[in-house]
This record gives sequence, structure tokens and C-alpha cells, in this order.
Amino acid sequence: MATERWEYGWQWRAACRGEDSSAFFPPSHPEDREEKRERERRAKAMCAICAVRADCLEYALRTREPYGVWGGLSELERRAVLRGRADEAGPAA
Ligand code: SF4
Repeated sequence: MATERWEYGWQWRAACRGEDSSAFFPPSHPEDREEKRERERRAKAMCAICAVRADCLEYALRTREPYGVWGGLSELERRAVLRGRADEAGPAA
């Protein structure tokens, strides 16, 4: 569908495309704080040079991606952005 191609076309230009995704998502085993910090540092280094970072981040925010590093932000950082946006929008009418 044309709309989908436009909406997700940015993914073709992702720096992480075809790369090992293990830095972007938590492992299946329990991860300690230092391991998580190092994993996310590696993911964010790739995001920092990615041409479609803004598109990726907006996609993750819009779809409420619950896990992983998207657009240079971890799940906790994205939740903070969403809370900030909700605060800016004020109470629902
Ligand atoms: S911003 Fe990061 S997670 Fe998103 S497409 Fe680029 S490299 Fe991948």
C-alpha cells in the first residue's frame, strides 16, 4: 500500500539495517545495570550517526514501542518524552 511505503520508507535508510540487533534489545537472560548501560551505549552510538533518527524516534513514540533503543532513546527515555508531551498538552478536554 502506498501509504505504508511512505510511512515506513525511512527504515530502508536505517544505520542499523542488516546489523546485529543485540545492542538494541534486551537479551533473553537477566541483564545487570552495567551490561544494560554498555549495550545501550553501543546502540545509541549507531543511532547518533543514523540519517533517519528523527523518523525512527517518532515511529517508536507513536506506536508506544515498549522495548529497546529507538531513535537514540531507551524505553525509559521514550516514556519520559511521552510524559512530557502529555504534560504540555494539558488535561484532556
Ligand atoms: S535511529 Fe537507531 S534504531 Fe533507529 S533506525 Fe537509526 S540506528 Fe536504527
